[in-house]
Amino acid sequence: MFLDFTVKDFIDILLVAMLLYYFYRLMKDSGSLNIFGGILIFFFSWIVVSKILQMRLLGSIMDQLMSIGTIALVVIFHDEVRGFFKRLGSKRRFGLWSLFASRTNKQSDIDNAILPLVMSCISMAQQKVGALIVIERNDPLNEVIKTGETIDALVGQRLIESIFFTNAPLHDGAIVIRGGRVVAAQCILPVSKNLDIPKRLGLRHRAAMGLSEDTDAIAIIVSEETGAISVARQGKFLLNLDARKLEDVLVKELSETAQA
Ligand code: ATP
Ligand code: MG
Repeated sequence: MFLDFTVKDFIDILLVAMLLYYFYRLMKDSGSLNIFGGILIFFFSWIVVSKILQMRLLGSIMDQLMSIGTIALVVIFHDEVRGFFKRLGSKRRFGLWSLFASRTNKQSDIDNAILPLVMSCISMAQQKVGALIVIERNDPLNEVIKTGETIDALVGQRLIESIFFTNAPLHDGAIVIRGGRVVAAQCILPVSKNLDIPKRLGLRHRAAMGLSEDTDAIAIIVSEETGAISVARQGKFLLNLDARKLEDVLVKELSETAQA
């Protein structure tokens, strides 16, 4: 049987593995990883029930579900399917490779966002303008983004300062940064119930802490009361950071995002 295994079979398996990896990443980015897991479980159950054990009754029901499943998937993931074909067609020369190479572009956007982030925080701290900035890492923050106002703009110092400018329409709540872009403002974060947080730190700090306890995101807080800049990550605060320390933390944490 193994003698029949040719280079063509090897390429076949490799392409299927790449396709599966692509769909895994697509679902992870859109926050629907559980659905991907569910589809895989259903698919392997179908192979066992229908093809290997050849159970006729359950097999025929699952066969029916499989045949309408493809259409159902296209309906559920129509945005992702559109994006897939758009990207496949837009870079004709390196079409297939471009599907897997996007992370590098994203990483350079993330690196370029660090300096404007630090500069805006320093400037807002000097003027005692309160701010709450969330940077998404590997855990998708779709649920948080949904609570706010969609923006989708490249991170820039003036953009961030305009958002948090006192009494500006979107200054309340948090902004969320994904892949070097501000994707939403006025987002509501889960407030931490940790009793060890000092009483002098109010809701802005507690909201930053709450998110960092639940996800791997980083939250930068600029205090309206004291002008202090702090970071919450992995359920811990780094308080009173100066420009150099803030930059060091962001460079360290965000380069780890790329390696993950
Ligand atoms: P500061 O040092 O700036 O005063 P603080 O930690 O003392 O910050 P508050 O004074 O309570 O916090 O800040 C209130 C602001 O925090 C609100 O106006 C709002 O913008 C923001 N905030 C409060 N709760 C949340 C939440 N759950 N999610 C996002 N932002 C929140
Ligand atoms: Mg306060």
